[in-house]
Amino acid sequence: MVDETSEFAFELRVCRWAERHWPPDGETAGPILVARQLGTAGRRWDTIVVECDPVGLRRRARFGAERLDGDLLDVLRYAPAEWAYYRDALPDPGYPWRYVRESIHRADERGILETRRTGNRIEIRRRWPYPDWVDRLVAVENKPDLDASAARALSDQVERDVALGIADEVWIATECGDDHVSAALFEDVPVEVGILEVDPDALSAEVAWYPRALAVDRPGTQIVERPDGGDRDASAARFAYVEADEKRAGRLEIAERAYERGWRSWIDTMRPDCRHFEPRTDGQLLPYCRAKDRQQTARECAGDCPHFEPEPPAWRSRDWPIEGGPGKRITRVLTDRRARRRPDP
Ligand code: SF4
Repeated sequence: MVDETSEFAFELRVCRWAERHWPPDGETAGPILVARQLGTAGRRWDTIVVECDPVGLRRRARFGAERLDGDLLDVLRYAPAEWAYYRDALPDPGYPWRYVRESIHRADERGILETRRTGNRIEIRRRWPYPDWVDRLVAVENKPDLDASAARALSDQVERDVALGIADEVWIATECGDDHVSAALFEDVPVEVGILEVDPDALSAEVAWYPRALAVDRPGTQIVERPDGGDRDASAARFAYVEADEKRAGRLEIAERAYERGWRSWIDTMRPDCRHFEPRTDGQLLPYCRAKDRQQTARECAGDCPHFEPEPPAWRSRDWPIEGGPGKRITRVLTDRRARRRPDP
């Protein structure tokens, strides 16, 4: 059975390691953003590393800390430098124009696009060009105990990642043990996928297998359905082609979500307002549940947790509203750290 507690703890350590030491070969990288549990509609990765162009990243900051979703990007990427009727300035979106108008109003309200009315027409003008800020997108699947059966179970997922090629690289991160990853495991994992051995205590990592760069600029293949491979299963796999433009848009949306959330957003989905919640420092701030007497997972620490008890009012009123209770404090600390990972505009 999968030990979700250790997987979650390992995932947070991998994120911390990546934030401090990426890339694994020790070459100096530009600025990076690390996020967890992000992906496309059909696929979510444990850890995403966005390697950024330093100048582009600073320019991206002008658009605010909130992500730009696909509809906003459809407007902002093409917004003209001079006033123009929006339908003349923007490419046909492939969906009704009224949705484009909604995006224009949202962008205007956020102060990232200029608009004016000329008669019945809405004209737009960009405030800044949307920058080319994403150099590379790297997907990491975390599997602390990578044995043969785990490798086989993962291989189907990572084969799909390789075929689609939306990330520049795909890695599996596993916990280093006394022995290095067995070469036999490599047979179960596509050669394009890198394998990283991470020491979560020392926050160090070694490359057991280097990944191959995937063709992000070319159309990808989505494996829609594949036969289960049983003796009697002679059915063919079904594929769909994904155009390079669609992949590019998908990459940008993932990067935008990483920009907004970062990996410290685990606090947003947990219950730091529970009296049993305790932030513990073990080289980094990690959640701990006193009721369970162990680190809890994000899934456990939710609204339906049977052990949830609200913070006592006294905790809240002490120094309230300036300081608040422990839950408020950890939320603030992690939010501050998240903000510090992004450049100022
Ligand atoms: S008791 Fe439940 S809600 Fe409270 S900290 Fe523990 S896991 Fe989270």
